[in-house]
Amino acid sequence: MVEISDSIKRVQENINSACARAGRDPEDIKLVVVTKSATIEAVEEVVQLGFTELGENRVQQLKKVSAQISDVLKEKEGNSALEQKIKWHMIGHLQRNKVRQVLPLVSLIHSVDTLRLAEEINAAAVKMNIFPKVLLQVNTSNESQKYGVPVGAVVHLAEQIGTLSNLRLVGLMTMAPLTRDKDVVRACFVRAAEIFVEIRGEKIVGPYFKELSMGMSSDYEIAIEEGATILRIGSAIFSG
Ligand SMILES: *Cc1c(COP(=O)(O)O)cnc(C)c1O
Repeated sequence: MVEISDSIKRVQENINSACARAGRDPEDIKLVVVTKSATIEAVEEVVQLGFTELGENRVQQLKKVSAQISDVLKEKEGNSALEQKIKWHMIGHLQRNKVRQVLPLVSLIHSVDTLRLAEEINAAAVKMNIFPKVLLQVNTSNESQKYGVPVGAVVHLAEQIGTLSNLRLVGLMTMAPLTRDKDVVRACFVRAAEIFVEIRGEKIVGPYFKELSMGMSSDYEIAIEEGATILRIGSAIFSG
């Protein structure tokens, strides 16, 4: 069996090499460890190794795992500092009726893809007096994908979200299709990066618009080459 400490080290080394190839600083790239396929023991291990940005794609699972990992760490003396460092990312499709449950638990929602969802988050945030950070999920591959804003509608939606009082639109997220064709994957990331640069360049939203969340276990090195600032990696860490 492959140790988690080894596989995460290997991922980190691959990140460093991809950064070297692309002339980028690894410090500018945040690794979100996606825990959906992991046991609580495995999640605890990555946190103990210092990886405290964690991601889940379903609200129920996020609630459960975040509570469990808090309990585990709090039980062990001296680990409440570590527990406080954990930041959760909601990376999967978010239903509007789950917004109020998830908001207090997360540091970033990656998957805003309609104005209605953005408005729902904003309304809940106003009531809670918080300013949640969100990303717009862009559908860069057209066919296969159920979720995500169509490429041609992203700029307009970003403008609309920019008018909502309590939402902080900090960037874009995209997923490449599941294919071995690296050119198809790269084309998706390039498209996301182009829209990202356009929105940032035209100052359509505020100065905090600086995150590009793309790259999973099978394609994170390509994502780094194309400008990703946040990677979401699960199976490469937990299933060797
Ligand atoms: C599961 C998931 C990931 C991580 O996928 P791996 O292939 O396990 O690295 C990243 N992003 C989203 C939205 C996911 O649902």
